[in-house]
Amino acid sequence: MSDLPEMNNTYTDSKIYMGFPEDLPPHYAYEAVQIFNDCGGFPEFVPNSGIKTDKNSGIWLQKGEERYDIPFFGEENEKLEHKLQKREIYRIMSNFTGYTSPWGCMTGVRPAKIVNVLFNSGATYQEALEELENFYMARSEKAELAVKTACNQESFLKEQIENPKNIAIYVGIPFCPTRCLYCSFTSHPIGKYIKIVDKYLELLEAELRTVVPVLLQKGYNIESLYIGGGTPTSLSETSFEKFLGFVTDVVNPVNLKEFSLEAGRPDSITPEKLRIAKKAGVTRISVNPQTMNNATLELIGRRHSAEEVISAFEMARMAGFDNINMDIIAGLPGEELSHFEYTLEKIAQLKPDGLTVHTLSVKRAADLKRDAKAELLRHDITGKMLIESQKCASSMGMIPFYMYRQKNMLGNHENVSYCRPGCESPYNIHIMEEDQTIFAFGAGGVTKICQKDIIRSFNVKSVEDYMKRSEEMAQRKLMLI
Ligand code: SF4
Repeated sequence: MSDLPEMNNTYTDSKIYMGFPEDLPPHYAYEAVQIFNDCGGFPEFVPNSGIKTDKNSGIWLQKGEERYDIPFFGEENEKLEHKLQKREIYRIMSNFTGYTSPWGCMTGVRPAKIVNVLFNSGATYQEALEELENFYMARSEKAELAVKTACNQESFLKEQIENPKNIAIYVGIPFCPTRCLYCSFTSHPIGKYIKIVDKYLELLEAELRTVVPVLLQKGYNIESLYIGGGTPTSLSETSFEKFLGFVTDVVNPVNLKEFSLEAGRPDSITPEKLRIAKKAGVTRISVNPQTMNNATLELIGRRHSAEEVISAFEMARMAGFDNINMDIIAGLPGEELSHFEYTLEKIAQLKPDGLTVHTLSVKRAADLKRDAKAELLRHDITGKMLIESQKCASSMGMIPFYMYRQKNMLGNHENVSYCRPGCESPYNIHIMEEDQTIFAFGAGGVTKICQKDIIRSFNVKSVEDYMKRSEEMAQRKLMLI
């Protein structure tokens, strides 16, 4: 942060300065300027710059001779007042930098949730679209995507309102064949941890057996069971069978609406594991290529080829899976639009039931930066990639059903999941809308009690810590029931 300013300070250099009355910028102002991180427009902060008056909010922005005081809009509702000021900060920052974000001044993780709030207050499809385009200044294709997604979620949200005791169970296997370069999940290379896998499973079983029966006694209805990680299929066939055996002993899969399994890494999939999963009652799996370009797969540390993706997908079809999702990433290092289009073409040939398109998160790319591969990141073409993926999903008869944004996403874009109608994942919809309680088990699991206020309980992330504290994790959950 800069030193305190002179009272009559003028900043004549080409930097952008932001002043505010407190020691730190108010959160809404900080969120607004964070949008400009990506385009090098992030301002220098000048804290404690003056005293609030009733004429203005005390926040100002300056570049060279041009200085703007953010007006106070006189709204009694503080939330609305901040929203209006945030929009104004975005507008001025846009003028200073020449940069407009695809989502305009909209920040936060859940664009579709904003639309659902508008719908709940009586807005029509057209009115919601106009609010996103006119108030938030989102690009029309983004506004349309968010509104369509919210429409496709409607029946799921309604069902949850009618059945508030519906909950989800998440079980995490924090191991993968190798660690991908951009990974920010709880994941440990299984080769290195092989000696403790059995013990981990033993503790995981105990955690489930301590908590799930209490949930059932209290009348909760488990709607979804989601096995994630990591890559659960990186377990050996024997361990995988044992694992799904005790999970389905604790959670009866018969009445589940969704039983999803992340089988993300094709190099971890075998016909036998698919047979075990099918027998256990898994209804939806993910086989994730991320890209179908072998050179990129090598660069990002996936250690499998595009050909292995195709054969894993075909194996899953042969095993009888009729709801297979594929994850890809837009903006991977070194990829041009043509590489991404090639990936889409290959995926369309496989005809999956779901397609999840992530935008590379630059934060997740910490290892890329460390390895000096950051210059290979393409901020400029990511938006075009996403438009192509939207067209590809639509040509496969898919609809968007959940979406979210993260900080530091390349080009300020989003992650969005498409599927054939009927192949939606209620688990993913509810996790984004925060309208359904999730009890999470295993290292890195986050339990979320969704009532009026949301209460979170975090399981420890590292496997080593989990081995020592799994019982405490179970007890924490019991306290929340
Ligand atoms: S497969 Fe997924 S969880 Fe595993 S290392 Fe790669 S990104 Fe992380």
